Amino acid sequence: SRARNVLGALDIPTSDGVELPGVYDGTWGGCGEVSESVCPATGEVLAHVRSASPQEMQAILSKTREAFQTFRDVPAPKRGEILRQIREALARKRDELGALVSLEMGKIRTEGEGEVQEFIDICDYAVGLSRMMNGNVVNSERSGHTILEVPNPLGVVGVLSAFNFPVAVYGWNLALSLAAGNATLWKPSPTTPLCSIAVTKIIAEVLERNALPGAVASLVTGGKDVGEAITGSKEVDMVSFTGSEETGKKVANAVQSRFGKVLLELGGNNAAIVMPDADLSLAIPAIFFGAVGTAGQRCTSTRRLYLHRSISSSVLSSLLRLYETLRPGDPLDRKTLLAPLHTRNAVGMYGSAVRRLRESGSEILVGGNAYDGKSLEGPLERGNYVQPTIARPLSASLSSNTSASSSKSELSGAQDLWRTEIFAPILQVGVFDELEEAIEWNNAVPQGLSSSLWTRDVRNVGRWIGPRGSDCGIVNVNVGTSGAEIGAAFGGNKSTGWGRESGGDAWKQYVRWSACTINFSDSAPLAQGIRHIV
Ligand code: NAD
Repeated sequence: SRARNVLGALDIPTSDGVELPGVYDGTWGGCGEVSESVCPATGEVLAHVRSASPQEMQAILSKTREAFQTFRDVPAPKRGEILRQIREALARKRDELGALVSLEMGKIRTEGEGEVQEFIDICDYAVGLSRMMNGNVVNSERSGHTILEVPNPLGVVGVLSAFNFPVAVYGWNLALSLAAGNATLWKPSPTTPLCSIAVTKIIAEVLERNALPGAVASLVTGGKDVGEAITGSKEVDMVSFTGSEETGKKVANAVQSRFGKVLLELGGNNAAIVMPDADLSLAIPAIFFGAVGTAGQRCTSTRRLYLHRSISSSVLSSLLRLYETLRPGDPLDRKTLLAPLHTRNAVGMYGSAVRRLRESGSEILVGGNAYDGKSLEGPLERGNYVQPTIARPLSASLSSNTSASSSKSELSGAQDLWRTEIFAPILQVGVFDELEEAIEWNNAVPQGLSSSLWTRDVRNVGRWIGPRGSDCGIVNVNVGTSGAEIGAAFGGNKSTGWGRESGGDAWKQYVRWSACTINFSDSAPLAQGIRHIV
């Protein structure tokens, strides 16, 4: 079968009734609860996976800490060499892992492979970084003194990840964390255990070949209980959490209450703004991909679209034409563009969001229904497919005028729906007259992840990226809201959690910084000229 081929290529046993060990800390184990991995496109149970018991959890935490105590002494460029080998091992299995992402998470083939490519890219980046994680030499105000800012390994980094990027999010964290000299303990989403087992197997082989403890990259599959064991444990120095705002708040409180370090990558509610001078031949396909790609389940998916009045009808009719070409298909089939939602629950959540949109006066311009079994072909009849939807809140933007205060009150009717991240392919459209108004709407939500402006006028660009511009962590121009590269720091502001991962200065969070003042002189003056002995 299709599942057997994908799993077989990664040596994951598939025979009926087999329970896979879902725990790795140098050896594979797991005697806790059993969870199911279910294919979103067919409803087929792919595997049963055993998580850790509470006692096992304590043992994993201790072994991961011991692994850190060994690994911190490996010089950074040698850690880079391990990352280079991990990169090579991942590249050899790129297509097979990409297919597993499609099978288990449900995104289409090129996106599944793209996710593995992102892991490969961040490994390349971290290999370079392993020779460039430099501290600073600071000028001292006292003669004969030098101040050094020194980065050292931090400890154990717990990575709690979301279902929608079951490979790449771990990659961003693992690569920087290993380069920094830490041990990592990964708890993936409970619904994507197979992706985490396949990735961990590849990394474990590299560690073993280099005689390093496997617990440098430990894995515990499971759900909330395992997550809470990690956020509550003093053995874990930093928790890097990717997931919803609701869970993020709990994680932040748990970690901060024990003065641990926390990095948050939470929900997005991303807007694209199209100005009258935009190149629509670029903007329309990018908005289409941003709203429909990954079935609207990217943290950076385009959820709000603000169109200048003068081009609103033509952009909308082009988008509607593209939406009407979409047909649900098997994510493993390279021709498929419309993938399923990840779970049955998500289909219910989509349905209730559409209902609330209708109740609040929104017009559904396209979509609005889940596909029932009869409209889906063969094995896909139990798939979680929904129609990508465009909604136009009547009370909101269509009648808006140029005054910012009136637009605010017009938005308030549909306020809840504009303000929450609906993790499904639903795009809400508003019409504006002035850029200032669109920027105000862009910023009027709790989240601050990604944003995109379409214009060819350099003055608009200046306003958009300046102090009165977008308040998001990602502020794009003539580039859609989704599809970031690894080179820049990735993350969002406000209720997205202020975290930054991947490129830029993100690595600086994975180390323990010390300011070291060293006195080479024969006297010991105090700072600020303070005299204590007369
Ligand atoms: P989720 O919040 O339901 O789960 C995330 C992780 O937290 C899972 O591993 C889950 O098992 C674990 N968890 C649940 N309760 C916990 C608790 N009390 N303590 C510790 N861990 C706990 O999120 P999800 O539905 O898997 O993912 C979708 C969300 O993730 C969306 O909001 C999306 O925007 C966000 N996301 C953000 C980014 C980003 O970089 N900003 C990237 C991907 C996804």
